[in-house]
Amino acid sequence: MSPLNSRILKMALDTPLAIEFDYRWQPTSTEDQPPSVGQLAQVPFGRREVVGLIIAIQESSDYAPEKIRDITAIRHQLPPLSAHWIALSRFAADYYQRPLGEVVLPCLPKNLRAVKSTALDSALKKINAPASSKASTDSVTPILNQDQQAAFDAITAEGGYSTHLLFGVTGSGKTEVYLRSAEKILEREKQQGRRAQVLILVPEINLTPQLENSVRARFPSLNVVSLHSQLSEGERTRSWLSAHLGNASIVLGTRLAVLASMPDLKLIVVDEEHDPSYKQQEGLRYSARDLAIWRARDLDIPIVLGSATPSMESWHHAESHRYRKLVLAQRAAAKAVLPAISLIDMERIKATEGLAPPLIAALRERLARGEQSLLFLNRRGYAPVVHCEACGWISNCQRCTAFMVLHKPERRLRCHHCSLELRIPSSCPTCGNVDLQPLGRGTQRIEEYLHTLFPEARVLRIDADSTRKKGSAQAAFETVHRGEVDILLGTQMVAKGHDFQRLTLVGVINPDTALFSHDYRAGERLFAQLMQVAGRAGRAANTGELSQSEVMIQTRYAQHPLYRALLRHDFPGFASTTLEERRSAGLPPFVFQALLRAESKTLDKALEFLQKARELLPHPGIVINDPVPMTMTRVAGIERAQLLLESNGRAVLQNFLKVWVPELRKQPTRLRWTLEVDPIDI
Ligand code: ADP
Ligand code: ZN
Ligand code: ZN
Repeated sequence: MSPLNSRILKMALDTPLAIEFDYRWQPTSTEDQPPSVGQLAQVPFGRREVVGLIIAIQESSDYAPEKIRDITAIRHQLPPLSAHWIALSRFAADYYQRPLGEVVLPCLPKNLRAVKSTALDSALKKINAPASSKASTDSVTPILNQDQQAAFDAITAEGGYSTHLLFGVTGSGKTEVYLRSAEKILEREKQQGRRAQVLILVPEINLTPQLENSVRARFPSLNVVSLHSQLSEGERTRSWLSAHLGNASIVLGTRLAVLASMPDLKLIVVDEEHDPSYKQQEGLRYSARDLAIWRARDLDIPIVLGSATPSMESWHHAESHRYRKLVLAQRAAAKAVLPAISLIDMERIKATEGLAPPLIAALRERLARGEQSLLFLNRRGYAPVVHCEACGWISNCQRCTAFMVLHKPERRLRCHHCSLELRIPSSCPTCGNVDLQPLGRGTQRIEEYLHTLFPEARVLRIDADSTRKKGSAQAAFETVHRGEVDILLGTQMVAKGHDFQRLTLVGVINPDTALFSHDYRAGERLFAQLMQVAGRAGRAANTGELSQSEVMIQTRYAQHPLYRALLRHDFPGFASTTLEERRSAGLPPFVFQALLRAESKTLDKALEFLQKARELLPHPGIVINDPVPMTMTRVAGIERAQLLLESNGRAVLQNFLKVWVPELRKQPTRLRWTLEVDPIDI
């Protein structure tokens, strides 16, 4: 045993300390395999054993030799994570201001981080060898139309990194472009004797099975795996390993999949790139879309961002030619056309139980023709609040700045922000009046009315309440696909992605609240959501037996510019107005923001901490606004406040955060705080 052969391993461990830890590796015999960067290793940490990642190997350490402990074991059974993957994690840690160890370790499946390696070893045995080249079955592949062909040509042109913004109206065949591009790139690499992998990100877990099926049908000879938070630990480990070992050619997943290890990655697709769910809202608060773009640039490969309503950031980059804009202007399926959108002016027309007569008539017509309708109401429960007309009592949550929502089938009042649940009071808690009134409408109340209105119709409600059990959302959507539902009613869960063949009517109930939100992104979100839900209608090839598809929106603000643009299906018009407003108001994407949030039992403490943080360091080039309570100030008895930082330069902001956040960590405070870079909810 020669001390010359020992090495110092710099390791990332899952601790809140923003440092890398030094350990010693000492060979016990000449046969000992030396460690490499990117391997997992088991080390003593305090009185425990933990698994960490080797991020550098050195001859010596700055610490005194007697302070350095020996590692316990190296996971040689697992090939090392690549330098690219470590660089990605390091970028994410730096950019979002988190310790590296809190980035690299939590994103690995638990079985890899476990001190016992038995689960890992058995998962490794179960990983299939790369799939043999089965002849591909003849799942019908349509001939690309001109727009699709042009997009496909641009994406698959050899030329390394490029961000393509695939702007295609709903049903324009974006998926077909993704699949064809994936196929071409995988095939091309194979012919050159290289392995290749494609990563496809989708916003919504409920959409992964649907896409997974079409991908598998298209590529029966390829190994396709999915990665999302609803997989069991065993499934997640196997999917992750397949991606890491290069066995999986296609990885489909939600935002967390952007951190998958894929050594042969050659193409990334981000479907519905504008979707807010690409932003992780806790821990490492990353944007999966932005990290995906970083990855593509680092690997020098193409990336496709697809959307019918791109984010203002991406649209702005496309307009200024940093991204390449590819346009699919028409629906792809034969004779499928975009639905006609109309507004029902609720200032003039009286509704019964929330539904206006023209919408009821349109529903009746669809029922008579055996077609499907979809009603969209982004509010679950029966009524958002219960109220006493005698004394003015309303069902406030005792612990939050929010109302308790009436859930009639469950006979409960529920707060959607904390876990508080109460039985519906039989009389007013303050005056004893027994006649408590539900105010406003949620999906359950509309459902109840639909049953009275159309007793023979098959009505299905899909929202977070009706789909609590694992797999139940999937099952519910399948019932609609099988045509066993006449009227589908739901929240944003029903707005996304699904392709229901006989759906010809979409009704939107009460979307107006978003028009007057304090959140400057609310309009952008509403437009995207309405376009998307409208896009569920009339997607199939219409051979004439289905009626003309239509979308009806009930609104009190029929003259609002957002609705006027929507009527024309005019996203570019909406985007250019919105971007102009953002530019003159000094909002993203024209400025860069970070948000410091503090939580405390008292609002004063939270505000005081933020005020101190604000005065901690000089900050040239950065505006730090006054600390303010959050709009929903109290949640579960905790008061919340925030401090907004703004700068014209991303680098200026980043450089400041790099010194400011470590200073904040040193502050002696017991309150909880979090920092978010590029926040999307303000
Ligand atoms: P998007 O993802 O843009 O909303 P999809 O990819 O789901 O649209 O396509 C909508 C429908 O059009 C699907 O049923 C799909 O099979 C069909 N489709 C796509 N491309 C073509 C094409 N070139 N010719 C005929 N039908 C097509
Ligand atoms: Zn009362
Ligand atoms: Zn509450």
